[in-house]
Amino acid sequence: MSRKKLTEKTKLSNKAEKLWKELIKLKATNRCELCRGDGRQFQMHIHHIERKQSHYMRSLLDNGICLCANCHKWGIHDTSYSRQKEISDKLLRYKGQKFMDNLKRLKNNPPKITELELEERIVMYEDMLQKFYKDKTDKYNV
Ligand SMILES: [Zn+2]
Repeated sequence: MSRKKLTEKTKLSNKAEKLWKELIKLKATNRCELCRGDGRQFQMHIHHIERKQSHYMRSLLDNGICLCANCHKWGIHDTSYSRQKEISDKLLRYKGQKFMDNLKRLKNNPPKITELELEERIVMYEDMLQKFYKDKTDKYNV
């Protein structure tokens, strides 16, 4: 594979992840999905539930969750193991064992995603965002 090709794929992956973040934030109505904090106290972060080494996992909708900094930085990524465990357990209860097992399975053996498939993902996310903003506009215009 040429260097140029890798760069192109990374560019697409970056774009897909940017849209992924926006979508997850909107779907969560900018609230922390674990403590329901609304961002007045802590900044919102979009967390990858499973590691994001593969382009497939990096912008997979199921692999994202909107968390406040308290549940994210000082929770799931805290240096204290007990705090990490507390939030991980909360996440497991929220998503369910089956969902988490499925994500782990995907992370361990991520499907290969081609440039074309990444482009399709981008188009799909752009459509979803557009629809979301349109619905919102319709709602406030009646
Ligand atoms: Zn939170």
